[in-house]
Amino acid sequence: MHFIQAKSILSAKNGMNIYRGCTHGCIYCDSRSDCYGFDHRFEDIAVKQNAPELLEDALKRKRKPCMIGTGAMCDPYMHCEESLGYTRKCLEIIDKYDCGVAIQTKSARILRDIDLL
Ligand code: SF4
Repeated sequence: MHFIQAKSILSAKNGMNIYRGCTHGCIYCDSRSDCYGFDHRFEDIAVKQNAPELLEDALKRKRKPCMIGTGAMCDPYMHCEESLGYTRKCLEIIDKYDCGVAIQTKSARILRDIDLL
């Protein structure tokens, strides 16, 4: 994996991808398609190092709580999340601002955060 500084963390429809790329290796995965413009191998995860700060800043500026979706383009509970904990940090921020969250994952690591969920 490698670390990057992202410019933003929420899409126009409040989609959030803390990581870019995925190590689960599903053969039908659409996210590895050329149309998404990856400039690195799909399995070499780009970690948005400033994701929690960007999320806090974005939610602070919302007029009312919103629903945030994550996991559509990459899994938020890949192996690297075990040591990095960025998904958990972002869930704490989502909770702090009374927002909702929809998570797509194939990993049982989500159970680590059951207290927050
Ligand atoms: S978990 Fe999702 S993003 Fe990751 S390889 Fe599988 S389909 Fe693609």
